[in-house]
Amino acid sequence: MSESENMTGLCVEGCEECPDLVASRSRIVNGVGPADADVVFVGEGPGANEDERGEPFVGRSGDVLNAALADHGLGRSDVRITNCVRCRPPENRDPTDAELANCRPYLDAELEAVDPDVVVALGKVPAQHLLGRDVAVTKEAGTIETVAVGDARLDVLVCVHPAATLYDRSQEDTFESAIEKVATIVGAEGGQSSLGDF
Ligand code: URA
Repeated sequence: MSESENMTGLCVEGCEECPDLVASRSRIVNGVGPADADVVFVGEGPGANEDERGEPFVGRSGDVLNAALADHGLGRSDVRITNCVRCRPPENRDPTDAELANCRPYLDAELEAVDPDVVVALGKVPAQHLLGRDVAVTKEAGTIETVAVGDARLDVLVCVHPAATLYDRSQEDTFESAIEKVATIVGAEGGQSSLGDF
C-alpha cells in the first residue's frame, strides 16, 4: 500500500512507526463501518480480541457498545468505529504520547474523510487526545466540544469507555445517556433512524 493510500486513514497497511507496537501486534486494526458514517466512535487502541480478529471493539467492551447502540435504534454496521492507535500495546498498557502522535495523522485523515456529524470519544485517552486538554470523563460525559481536525471542524462528544460500565455499574447511566445523545444527534431515536434506511 502506498503512503498516499495510507493517508486516507481508512485502511492503513505496513506502518512500522512504533517499535513496541510492531513487536506486540499481530496485525494493524483499522476502523470499520461506512466511509460516510454520521457518527464515528473513537476508542483507545486494540486489545487482545481486536488484535486477534482485526476489528475494533469485538470483545466485552464491544458487546456493551453494540447493546447500547441497539437500545437507541443504531446498528453497529451504521456507525464507524476506530481507535487512537491501530496496534495493540504490549500488556494492554496505555499508548504512549509518541505512539498517539505517530498514529494521529491516520486518525485525522479518517475523521476528515468520513466528516461525521459527531465524533464520540470513548474514555479518557481518546477524549484527551481529541480535545487536547485534561478531561474528567465522568463529569464531562455528554458534553460536546468543536475541534479542528485537519481542514474540518468536528463536534466531539465525551463518553465514558464501555468497559467502565463493567467494573463500575454506576457508570451505566452515564454511558447510556451519552449514547442516547448520539442517537438524537443522528436522528436514530424512536426507530426513526436516518442511518441505514437509505
Ligand atoms: N477498547 C478500546 O479502546 N478499543 C478497542 O478496540 C477495544 C477495546
